[in-house]
Order: sequence, then C-alpha cells, then structure tokens
Amino acid sequence: MTAKTIDVFSPIDGHLIESYPVTNEAEITACYHQARTAAQDWADQTVKQRLIYIRAIRQQLINDLETITEQLVTVTGKVKTEILMGEIYPLMEMLRYYEKNAEKILSSQSVSTSPLGFPNAEAYYSYRPYGVVAVISPWNFPLQLTLYPLLSALIAGNAVIFKPSELSLPVAEIILSLCNACGLPKGLVQYVMGEAETGQQLIAQHPDLVFFTGGLQAGRRVMQAAAQHPVPVILELGGKDAMLVLADAQIERAINATLYGAFSNSGQVCISTELLYIEATIFNDFLDRLCQRVTAMTVGHGQQGDVGAISSTAQLAIIEAHYQDAIAKGAKASAPLSIQGHYVRPVVLWNIQDDMRLMQEETFGPLLAVIPFTDVENVITTLNATEHGLNASVWSQNIKHAVRIAERLQVGNWVVNDVLKNAGHPRLPFGGVKNSGFGRYHGAEGLRSFCYSVSAMLSHNRFEREPNWFPYSDESFTAMRAFIDTLFADDSLWQRLRRNARALSAYQEYAALNLKQHWRNFLILIGRTRN
Ligand code: NAD
Repeated sequence: MTAKTIDVFSPIDGHLIESYPVTNEAEITACYHQARTAAQDWADQTVKQRLIYIRAIRQQLINDLETITEQLVTVTGKVKTEILMGEIYPLMEMLRYYEKNAEKILSSQSVSTSPLGFPNAEAYYSYRPYGVVAVISPWNFPLQLTLYPLLSALIAGNAVIFKPSELSLPVAEIILSLCNACGLPKGLVQYVMGEAETGQQLIAQHPDLVFFTGGLQAGRRVMQAAAQHPVPVILELGGKDAMLVLADAQIERAINATLYGAFSNSGQVCISTELLYIEATIFNDFLDRLCQRVTAMTVGHGQQGDVGAISSTAQLAIIEAHYQDAIAKGAKASAPLSIQGHYVRPVVLWNIQDDMRLMQEETFGPLLAVIPFTDVENVITTLNATEHGLNASVWSQNIKHAVRIAERLQVGNWVVNDVLKNAGHPRLPFGGVKNSGFGRYHGAEGLRSFCYSVSAMLSHNRFEREPNWFPYSDESFTAMRAFIDTLFADDSLWQRLRRNARALSAYQEYAALNLKQHWRNFLILIGRTRN
C-alpha cells in the first residue's frame, strides 16, 4: 500500500514545494519509544547541562538566519522583516531570558512550616518534567509557534514530538536539522506529519502533556482526545482583539499602531487588532487619516511589500465571506476587496452592525472593523460579553485611566499605548481566557507549565505517636478542638491559652519537646502572634 502524502504549495505562486509522506500509527508508536528513552536521560541532566544545547540552538539560528528566512518566505509568502520580527526575534528574547534564569525558575522552593501545626518539619516543592510533550502548532508563525513551546519543554527536561501544520511541513525539517546540528540526543525531538487525524493519533498514543496552538474547533477535539487518558492540555486558541482609542490618545502613533496591529502578517496573528473602537469626537478625523494610510500600503513577499500572502485558500475564502457579509449588511469599505492569488489588500470597514460575521468570528486576515463609541463603559461591557479573551490595547495619554480600563477587560494579556509587542516580552506569561484558551507559556510561569510540581515534607520528630494518630478518644477530640481554637481564633493568644490550657495539657510533653527542638520556630511564632 502506498503511503498517503501531503503536497505543500508556496502561497507566493502556487508552485509545489514538496510532497511529504503522512506519518502512520506504527511510526508514531516508534517515535514514542525513542522519546521515552531520550526523555529519561534528558530529565537526569541538570538544567545547566541542558542549557548548553539551548545556547547552541540560539547561535545556530543566528548562523542560519539567511537560509531560514528564505525558506520561510517560500513556505509562508511572508515579508522578510516580519519573519525577523515575528519568527526569530521572540525566540531570541526567550532563549536569552531562559539561559539566564531557567535554573532559578526551575529550582526547588522551600516553604516555612508552622511550628505548632507542623512541628519539627521541613517542606519544599520541586519541578519535575512531564516526560514526553506533544506540541501541535499552526501555520501563521510556523517556526516561532513550534519552537517556543518545544524549546521551553526541552529546557524543563522533556522530550518533544511535534506536529507542524499541514500547510507548513518544511518547517519540521528546519527544526530537526537545527536540533541535530546542535548535537541534541537522538529521539529527544521528533516530528510527525499529517492533518487533524495525525494530531488525534499523536494524542491517542499518550503523551504526558499536550501543548496545542490553533483554532477553537480543533482545540475542543484535542481536549476530548486528551481527556481519554487523561493528560493535561494547554490550549492557545484564537482571538478577536480590540483596540480602544480614547480622544486624548496620541493620534499619529495610534494610527501607525493600528496599521501594524491589524495588518502585520496580513492579519494572520492570533492577537491581530480586528476591532478598532474610536471615541466619537475623533472618529471621523481618525478614520479619514487611517483610510489614506491603508490605501498606500503595498502587498508582496520577501522585501517587496508591507503585507505578505495569505497562507491557505481556506483562509482566503473566510476573509472574502466576512467582507461580503459586512457589505451586504451595510458596511462601508476603504476600498473594494482585492484578492490576487494569495495576496489581499488591507481593507478598513465602518458602519458596522453587531450581527456581521466579522464582529462575531475571528477573520484572521487584513480586514479591520472600525466602531465609534461615546461611553467607554459600553465598550468594556460589550467586549466582556464576547466569547474571546486573548489580547487588547488601550490608547490614551492619561496612562492611569487607560490602565484602569485595561484592567477591567476579560483578557489574558493587555497593552497600553502599543500593539502586539507585549506578547513578545519574555518575562510575561502569555495565554488566553474564555474561548481563547487556557494555560500559559512564556516567562517563569510559562516554563513551569512544562513541569508538574512535587510537594515534599520531612519530619524530624521521633515520637512514637503524633497527637492526631489512632486511637481516637473523647480526650483526643477535646484536645484537637482546643488545638484548632488556640491556633486560629481571633482573640488574644493569652485568652486562647487560658481557654484551652486544660484540654491542651495532654500535649504538654509533645509541645515542650518540639518547642525545645525548634526554639527558633518558637521565636518566629511569638513574632507572628504579636503582629
Ligand atoms: P487549526 O486549529 O486548524 O490547526 C492547528 C494545528 O492543529 C495544525 O497542526 C492542525 O493540523 C492540528 N489539528 C487540527 N485539527 C486537529 C485535531 N482534531 N486534533 C489534533 N490536531 C488537530 O489552526 P490553524 O488554522 O493552523 O491556525 C489558526 C488558528 O490558530 C487561529 O484561530 C489562530 O487565532 C490560532 N492561533 C492562536 C495562537 C495563540 O497563541 N493563542 C497563536 C497562533 C494562532
């Protein structure tokens, strides 16, 4: 039987880049065997040892920058500057940050133990890698959105099997040759190729964690498949992000930011600005200037334009459907929709109604809906009532006011007086709420997402029996009742001790010994009681 294949075409001119065989179930099983062995050895290495490879990967990415950029232009039809800023730069920031901080982030954390509740004990928690992480990634930033979770998982001590989007399969080879060039152990990073079915098979064969980036429908199916084991999932899903421009915003900067936020990567960014709310008093002026600027934007790939290609024909159809639906329902447009091959000129739309598809669904293309408002409270209420919650930006020269607005938006991330950039800050956790997903990557919290925490407690007590152990009796109940009252009631320690002294006398010997052994903790207790 001949293997199923997937043809990958360049969105630039439709030429066939390569035909790739789909990974079958037996091959996926073999991947897991190798990954499990590699994961054990890798987890035994210290974070410092792992970072030697990670540093090499950063340097190799720099060395191969030109080649990788050219390959990505062919696969995605992107503009080169956007490859640098969207695919490479965030990885560099992240790698540098983890190189400097991962050891500390993943180190064990001691916690204090109350000398009465947990006398003579020590406690700490540590981070342990899950084992084998399945990374399933989309096509819009095929390198960055695969490598970011992949490298985070590696630093945390896991092996990775990744499945790139069927539209960007050549990226799998780029990533694997990068890993091989840096001497990563065999089997530590592997890929499978295929569509939804292969993604389902990958999860069915029991990874220890699934990291998924993509659309809501696929995210739901990923979760269903993961629930069969169950294994944990992190879902990075789509958005319908808004930009709120108040009348006192710095207008020229806000216009430039709108262009970038809405149309970079041709609007195929999960945190693209798709909804622009402008305070009514500046609406007409802002819209006029914005339309002039949009009309002047150019399309093309490589270094030939501002706006690159739309990756898939399915996405082109969605963009066209959203545009036609809006026009049919009365929207006005800065220009008629122009689609040539995979290139779509950016369009600004106004006279927007709530029932238009582009108000309800993620467009993921270069269409921007512009809506005036008189009361920002209504905008907050409207946005919070939607099902999306990824990113948002608020624009005002009164930064405190802007922050107060941003803090009330139900989103996973926000930025004031800038767009998109917050998602690239290596110290900020990134992720969505509501239908935009859950779980975080990036930053310290994001690195720990690739581990589970193990809580540990050690007792130095030598008593044959702790007071709460068997046998139970009326006396032990009374003593425990007194113990809880003494520790947690709100009146003074003196009153609590007086009330409970008799019942606690059963513990005299225990308490005295513990306090003697732990006189330092006792002093801390006194200090706390005084506060
Ligand atoms: P998609 O959901 O169609 O596919 C994403 C990946 O999942 C692909 O590799 C695909 O083959 C795989 N897949 C699809 N169905 C699957 C299934 N049932 N089981 C397992 N795997 C499956 O998304 P896409 O079209 O590639 O990407 C666009 C979407 O991704 C947009 O909605 C965008 O907003 C979202 N996105 C989110 C983020 C984020 O960080 N939140 C980033 C980029 C893109």
